[in-house]
Amino acid sequence: MIYPHLLSPLRIRAVHLPNRVIMGSMHLGCEADADAFPRLARFYAERAKGGVGLIVTGGVAPNAEGRFGADGPMLDSDAELAGHRMITEAVHTAGGRIVMQILHCGRYGRHPEIVAPSALRAPINNIAPREMSEADIERTIADYGRTARMAVAAGYDGVEVMASEGYLINEFMAPRTNRRTDWWGGGLAGRLRFLIETVRAVRAGLGEEAILSVRLSMVDLVEDGMFAEEVVAAAQALEAEGVDIINSGIGWHEAKVPTIAHTVPPGAWSWATARVKAKVRIPVAASNRINTPELAEALLAEGKADMVSMARPLLADPAFVAKAASGRAEAINQCIGCNQGCLDSIFSGGSATCLVNPRAGREGEFDSRPAARPSAVAVVGGGPAGMACALEAARRGHAVTLFEAGGELGGQFLVARVLPAKREYIATPGHYARALSEAGVTIHLGRTAQAADLAAFDEIVLATGITPRRLELPGADHAKVVTYDDILAGRVRAGAVVAIMGCGGIGFDVAACLVEGNEPFDCAWGIDLAFKAPGGLSRPALPPRPARQVVMMQRKPGRPGDRLGKTTGWIHKAHLQRMGVEMLAGVTYRRIDDGGLHIEVAGESRVIAADTIVTCIGQDSRRDLLAAVAAMGKPVHLIGGARDAARLDALAAFEEGTRLGLAI
Ligand code: NAP
Ligand code: SF4
Repeated sequence: MIYPHLLSPLRIRAVHLPNRVIMGSMHLGCEADADAFPRLARFYAERAKGGVGLIVTGGVAPNAEGRFGADGPMLDSDAELAGHRMITEAVHTAGGRIVMQILHCGRYGRHPEIVAPSALRAPINNIAPREMSEADIERTIADYGRTARMAVAAGYDGVEVMASEGYLINEFMAPRTNRRTDWWGGGLAGRLRFLIETVRAVRAGLGEEAILSVRLSMVDLVEDGMFAEEVVAAAQALEAEGVDIINSGIGWHEAKVPTIAHTVPPGAWSWATARVKAKVRIPVAASNRINTPELAEALLAEGKADMVSMARPLLADPAFVAKAASGRAEAINQCIGCNQGCLDSIFSGGSATCLVNPRAGREGEFDSRPAARPSAVAVVGGGPAGMACALEAARRGHAVTLFEAGGELGGQFLVARVLPAKREYIATPGHYARALSEAGVTIHLGRTAQAADLAAFDEIVLATGITPRRLELPGADHAKVVTYDDILAGRVRAGAVVAIMGCGGIGFDVAACLVEGNEPFDCAWGIDLAFKAPGGLSRPALPPRPARQVVMMQRKPGRPGDRLGKTTGWIHKAHLQRMGVEMLAGVTYRRIDDGGLHIEVAGESRVIAADTIVTCIGQDSRRDLLAAVAAMGKPVHLIGGARDAARLDALAAFEEGTRLGLAI
């Protein structure tokens, strides 16, 4: 049997789970929209159809104070109950099982009513919480119990209580945020009391048949967090209270350690889960950066966990489990940990989707119907936009031919393979290449399409991408000047001192590539794998010597890197600062000569005595074929970077290609 541990069933109370995969809780950012329930029902049903063992919904607050925003979801009315029934019925009809997460945001909420064990403002929030009175605490515990009862009435198979990530229950557990001297604070017993009383109220609300999972903070990753022994004591107390599953939470939201981004090695946190699993008998689930069935199986086989929780991998591929179970793991569209389509979208006020699967979260919108009139479609360019368009068009019955000038598919995505932290990105072109072959697309690699090659097609899609923008500056043709493409493709080896012009995503990628400095994740971020100190933190190791001296520059004022991804930009900035990269803003470029790059900054002239000057100054569209193809009088579609280089972004490119492929 393949993946014998991952695919082995588990019975929890009255619920049969066919395998060990939990879809972890994740907000989709659409919970307050008018069409939220039908949309969520479609979203979860597709994951249930894909075979996941147990789904956990996004968090639902037990009361108004516990909501994240003033319009955050609660389950306290008949209308809400009816909406949640749409979700549970859709999931059960699709053959799945689903529990509802109850999440009180505590001091992380973004509205004036927020409460916490002590009136301490979170460093990531401008709003200070009110300290809960004893009456507030007792009322909140009762609200948990009532919400659990409503969840069962709505048809859920149980609930998960969120007790990690620095939310309310976790705030009670850690000295960092619990400074109370009453019954609900002080020593460990006092700090765990809110957790235990909440779990009792929830079990009473659930009855004896429904699942009760608790997401426990395995390692807080903040100062004055819990000690290792305290985490174990909490887990054992939960077991004694009849909790059925302990799911892993890793790090508080205010932690200065990355926990889920692509820079975190896959499976990096399984040690923290394993410590708890060794001390309890109930199933314990590992989570964070588990994105392949091989890794999940290995963690279970090694005895580090009994189950695995994955959220983003099931956004990327709802059929993750079904593909693994049918021996087609290589067909899984792998989550690359970029956060661009999911978390960055949510934190920018949008709703979650997925960079590698634009359909995610918008299942109703991206309906794939057979083409009314199948036709011959030529797609020129095998980058994200071209691959996505060709795939959808072929799946709908068009005869699609894809021309790619390079030797392999992937376009700009391929540069990621030289970046140590982005090596997994290469899984995406590989997935699309396989899917395109399965869909019957004729692929011509190493072939620069000419207008004559396209004459026989009914529709032509130009996804010819971009070229790096040319620098306009005296001395721009100096031998020291190279493009980012020259560096990332390995055509040029940079000297000992490098000036990088442009601080966009590519400037940061190039800088990371040039300083090198690969070091173990725990050393770089000060993680105490022995978990001797509270919160699991230690002093970061001294940084390794950078491979070269790097200076980054941008013309605009403000901090370089401010426009990087909301949830990952800080990680890239911290890494480069650690590696001694100088970052200059408000720079005026003057000229380039044998002495280097002459600039003005803060009213002073300066020469960056660079051996290599790398331009990362944006892109221009590549549209060589447009005029000739337009002259043929056929329908022509321009997509991706070829249409709009300023918006060149893999997230936009995959979506644009997918939408066109569904529309042709
Ligand atoms: P970008 O983000 O637009 O940055 C271009 C940089 O060049 C800016 O810092 C700009 O800053 C500077 N610049 C623009 N025109 C210039 C000119 N004529 N002369 C000198 N400097 C100029 O573009 P990118 O870095 O090439 O990235 C392209 C796309 O890929 C972006 O959408 C980005 O989000 C995406 N990407 C993202 C990541 C990621 O980590 N999420 C990584 C790689 C790429 P000043 O005008 O202030 O000098
Ligand atoms: Fe994973 Fe990126 Fe998709 Fe988010 S957007 S689910 S991180 S691949």
